[in-house]
Amino acid sequence: MKILVAEDEKTSRILLEKILAKWGYEVVSATDGHEAWEKLQSEDAPKLAILDWMMPGIEGIEVCRKLRQQEQGDEQYTYVILLTAKDSKESIIEGMEAGADDYIVKPFDQNEMRVRIRAGQRIVRLQSELLATQKDLLRLSRIDPLTGVLNRRAILSQIEIELARAQRENTKLSISLLDIDHFKEVNDTYGHTVGDVVLRECVRRIDAVTRTYDTCGRFGGEEFLIVIPGAAEQEVFSIGERLRCAVNEPEICIDGSSVRVTVSQGMATWDGNENIDNLIVRADKAMYQAKENGRNRVELSQDQ
Ligand code: GH3
Ligand code: MG
Ligand code: MG
Ligand code: MG
Repeated sequence: MKILVAEDEKTSRILLEKILAKWGYEVVSATDGHEAWEKLQSEDAPKLAILDWMMPGIEGIEVCRKLRQQEQGDEQYTYVILLTAKDSKESIIEGMEAGADDYIVKPFDQNEMRVRIRAGQRIVRLQSELLATQKDLLRLSRIDPLTGVLNRRAILSQIEIELARAQRENTKLSISLLDIDHFKEVNDTYGHTVGDVVLRECVRRIDAVTRTYDTCGRFGGEEFLIVIPGAAEQEVFSIGERLRCAVNEPEICIDGSSVRVTVSQGMATWDGNENIDNLIVRADKAMYQAKENGRNRVELSQDQ
């Protein structure tokens, strides 16, 4: 583990560097507050810092305050041990109020320093585990487990993001509501497990023909929502056709059976004004129109 030692007094700094290295820590040194701050800002900065209170430039306590001001919930925490000759109760309170996690009075006892660093190390480790778990949970809460694409909630929030961007940048935004035709028959004929494989393969094919800035999400059972930013209105139909053909061909072969899948799509382009619900309702209507008109086809929303 990396530890920052910020201490302007040379002998004290060298002593700290030596004992920390002896205990197996990787030491990053700073000789004043500015250097300490810089090193704490760098990429892969130490997550535990021993800061001398009195230093030229920025004092240790000020470095600590700046750190706490900057810290946000989604970031790795820096554990701070203030090191100082000030041993009055008032000073200790002032140091802790500035955001220090611990406080060691100089001259320090080596054994005490060792156990206090260990306590800090535990906090840093727990916090980084917590962050990793949080990240995992966030990712899992957005993903459809069967197909690996965004789930309904996440694709809706993606439309929100894209709509805000389209508004800001005055660009186009289209969506496709894509529903697999007669999918119940696939399940009824081949079983649910084959149905699942077909769903996954459809997603893989959709993904293969969409651009990197398009996003596909699972809107419901066998229904997908594809967000298509930036396409001109006259392009939208051919994008839908490309999706339709990609899912349709070739047949999907599973365990000796081959399944030909067709999809019906309703597509709508944001009119520059309407809300998300309205946009989706229009795509949904167009999708039902595609079903009515014989399935395996793309319909563009007519009503604005
Ligand atoms: P239509 O052309 O009118 O859309 O007909 P359809 O059969 O596709 O539509 P319907 O709504 O009648 O049936 C959808 C089917 O999709 C029924 C449901 O069991 C199936 N389904 C939904 N989610 C899953 C899933 O995760 N796995 C499997 N295997 N089937 C699913
Ligand atoms: Mg000093
Ligand atoms: Mg269907
Ligand atoms: Mg459906």
